[in-house]
Amino acid sequence: MRQLLDHTTEIEQAAKLLRNSLSAIAFTGAGLSTSSGIPDFRGPGKGLWERLEAAGADEVQAGTIQAFGRDPQAFYERMKPLFQKIIVAEPNEAHFALGELEAKGYIQAVITQNADMLHQRAGSKNVIEVHGSLAEATCIQCYRSKTFRPLLDQYLADGIMPRCRECGGAMKPNVILPGEQLSMQAMLAAKQAIRHADILLIAGTSLAGGPATTLIDTAYLQNSRLIIVNQTPTLMDASAEAVIYMDVAAALPAIADILREERKR
Ligand SMILES: [Zn+2]
Repeated sequence: MRQLLDHTTEIEQAAKLLRNSLSAIAFTGAGLSTSSGIPDFRGPGKGLWERLEAAGADEVQAGTIQAFGRDPQAFYERMKPLFQKIIVAEPNEAHFALGELEAKGYIQAVITQNADMLHQRAGSKNVIEVHGSLAEATCIQCYRSKTFRPLLDQYLADGIMPRCRECGGAMKPNVILPGEQLSMQAMLAAKQAIRHADILLIAGTSLAGGPATTLIDTAYLQNSRLIIVNQTPTLMDASAEAVIYMDVAAALPAIADILREERKR
């Protein structure tokens, strides 16, 4: 509890901002899922792209969409340890807190850089996945989509990369890889949500790289107020109304607790 007590003022400030907001949006990154056992290779708040970068230049090359096209089997083998962790991962307290805040009307949507679907499993309804999702996979030749999980289970059982039943092409999970275009639809939805937001609750991301920069710029231009929850400093701390240097799995439930207590009175 010591850590929590040290941050009481900031947590109360964050709860107050959410209580008084008309339209708040959460923006989440890899830090949300570290407590669910999905590794965050370069410290809190780093996503898939940064993980590939951290592994070295060769890995960036190997993790691009172009490399997938050349050798999808090698891609699957490299991603195997991560896939194995993702299939057993369960949502944690941070995901559940955001699900509760949305159900109670304190936030309107979650924009996430994660593809692990843990937000939806924790009750979030309006989830915008700017780095794609592991829910489905698409054939890189004929673009037919299939649910990814059965394909992944098969791969983890026999080690043979999933192929399209119709044309034999490689099935690529619908995660956006480096070198691949971001989903226009998801980015537009994210920008639209941010444009209407008066509060942006940024959690578990350092905001470095990826689409984060563009989206946060949008928020900045709209004069949205920022709440930041991350274990390490982020690029936007100086512009935020409340900054909580804590594990999201402790801080977000603490914010939800305050708002829940207020409702009871
Ligand atoms: Zn196909």
